[in-house]
Order: sequence, then structure tokens, then C-alpha cells
Amino acid sequence: MNDGFSAILVSRDADGKQSVSTVSLSDADLMPGDVTVAVEWTTVNYKDGLAITGNAPVVRRFPLVPGIDFAGTVIASEHADWKPGDKVILNGWGVGEKHHGAYAGRARVSGDWLVPLPPGLGGREAMAIGTAGYTAMLAVMALERHGLMPQRGPVVVTGASGGVGSIAVALLSKLGFTVVASTGRQAESAYLRDLGASEVIDRTELSGLARPLGKERWAGGIDAVGSHTLANVLSMTSYGGAVAACGLAQGMDLPASVAPFILRGVSLLGIDSVMAPKPLRLEAWRRLAAGLDRTLLDKVTTEIAFDDIPRAAAEIVEGRIRGRVVASVPQSA
Ligand code: NDP
Repeated sequence: MNDGFSAILVSRDADGKQSVSTVSLSDADLMPGDVTVAVEWTTVNYKDGLAITGNAPVVRRFPLVPGIDFAGTVIASEHADWKPGDKVILNGWGVGEKHHGAYAGRARVSGDWLVPLPPGLGGREAMAIGTAGYTAMLAVMALERHGLMPQRGPVVVTGASGGVGSIAVALLSKLGFTVVASTGRQAESAYLRDLGASEVIDRTELSGLARPLGKERWAGGIDAVGSHTLANVLSMTSYGGAVAACGLAQGMDLPASVAPFILRGVSLLGIDSVMAPKPLRLEAWRRLAAGLDRTLLDKVTTEIAFDDIPRAAAEIVEGRIRGRVVASVPQSA
């Protein structure tokens, strides 16, 4: 149990300059927690990209093992819900931000943060879904709670070739929605149509300054981009519709007017995966395991080597990763 294991470590020097290295850690280096997990699979989300590149202050203590998502097997537990051998998933809760995260052979975390790997889903598949896919499902569930049904009209997905976007397109199309996919990568049109998009639009249609109200183009949508894009999506949402906002790939600002809210009764639904309560997580994972087409999941997934995680992290912040990446995590140094 105390053998060394490989870990990616983000450090900061006295001048505040951030660096990333692969090191060997042991159990003694892990942070407090009541469950120790052998981490078998992980992934690279946009937030991991920000953490590793230092492009945004995601890492809140140094040195830190980044990685907000893992799937693995419990090897020690003092938590009533878990015993050695249990297959688990972790998404968020500040892991990979202020608590050592997924990019290491082992993780020690609070048992309250874990969810069971749903029946029928492998660890690799769970990480192909990852926080991006689980967030896409949280967004779908929020739209459903609002009463959005396929008969109400098309739905738009922004950042469609990315992780959240790809899974959102697949989920919404499977539920019977007509999906308009907005992307900056027209070369990915065939990929997006394979996932179930009926129409692919260029993201420049949505990335400029929004008018207070635009032509009603969709009944709602899932937005992974924020900023002008979200403002345009809102302004083009038809009467009584709803937009689930979960991302900031274009920016954290929202240069919008209140017109869609007060003149069309449009709702803006906020989606947070990090602190989402456990019942919501369990429902999202149950539905992902039951409802996400595995052939489509394969199409969105690229497997990379553990050592390639820093490279993928740089690429995801540049918007160059299509769909989702997964990496197998080595158990020894
Ligand atoms: P990805 O990088 O995989 O996807 C983001 C996509 O956004 C890109 O693929 C690209 O799609 C588009 N994009 C990138 N830059 C710009 C830009 N400047 N203007 C317009 N579009 C752009 O990231 P993820 O799918 O992992 O995450 C998406 C967003 O959701 C991120 O902002 C992330 O932080 C957020 N997120 C939030 C969560 C929450 O709990 N609320 C959980 C998970 C993610 P294309 O090439 O198709 O245009």
C-alpha cells in the first residue's frame, strides 16, 4: 500500500510562476480523507486545462495534484458507505482544485464525495463521460424540470464539438429534440450530425454583440460558452423557453439585456456540477448509464497516455480537443 505511484504535480515558485512535473508520491503524501481509491481512469476537462496551464486560478493550493474526475476501486475505507473493491466515480467537490486530484495512481478523499459506478458502465466509459458529460446531463435535467419538450421546437447547443457540447448533442437528440449545433469547427459538421445534430451553424452567428431580442430560432438550449454567445442564444429563444448555462469558453461575462426574460418569459437556468447534491448526481449518472448510446460515446472519445495529459490540457484551453479524452492511470511509479 505504501509503494510509490506516479502523479502529475502543479507547483508554484517564489515568483508565482507555475510549473508541471510528473513525480512519484506515496500514500503519506495524500491529503486527509476517509476513503483511499486506486485511480484507474481519468480525463481532461476544460477546468483541468485551466488548472494545468495556469490560465485561470483554478488551483488554490500548491503543490497540487490536479484532475477533477476519476474512476477507480476503493482500496481502504473508514466510511460506512464504502468497502475495498467498490467501484466508484468522483466528479468535482474541489478535488483537483484544493484537494489532491485524479492525476495520480491513488487518491484519498471524503467518502461523501463518491458515487458508485453505475451498473453497466466501465471506468473508462465513466471517464469518457466525465464531468463534461455529467454536466450535460444536469443541463438536460434542468431543461426537463422547466417543462421543455421536443414538441416545443429545436434546441441549440453551443461549443458543440467540445466535451459538454458533444454529449449534450447526443443526449438531446436521443430524447427526440431537433438539435442545432453551434461550432467554430465546420470541419466537424459530419461528426456533429453523427451525434444527432439536425443543423450545424457557425459560432460566429452567435459570438458578436447581441440585440435585445432576435428572431425566435429555438425553444431553448445548452450553452457551454457564455459571454456574447449566451446573450445571443437568450435573445433568439422563443416565448417561454429556457437556456441552461454551464460554461465560459468565450468568457465569464454576460453582455445581455433583460428583454428575453421580461418580454418573452425566457428562463436562464444555472448549472453547477462541482457542488451538486448527491441525489442529483446519482440521477444524472443513472440516466447517463441507461440512456447514452455507447457507440456515440466511442465516437466522441480519444484515449491518450497518462504522460500526455499536460499536452491535452494545453490543447483544450485552445479549443483544439474534439469531444472527450480519457487516460488510463498507472498504478506504480
Ligand atoms: P471543451 O474545450 O471541450 O469545449 C468547449 C468548446 O467551446 C470548444 O470545443 C469550442 O467548441 C467552444 N469554444 C472554445 N472557445 C470558444 C470561444 N472563444 N468562443 C466560442 N466558443 C468557443 O470544454 P468542456 O466541454 O470540458 O467545457 C465547456 C465549458 O463548460 C467550459 O467553460 C467549462 O469550464 C464549463 N464547465 C462547467 C461545468 C459546471 O459545473 N458548470 C462543468 C463542466 C464544464 P467549437 O469548436 O465546437 O466551437
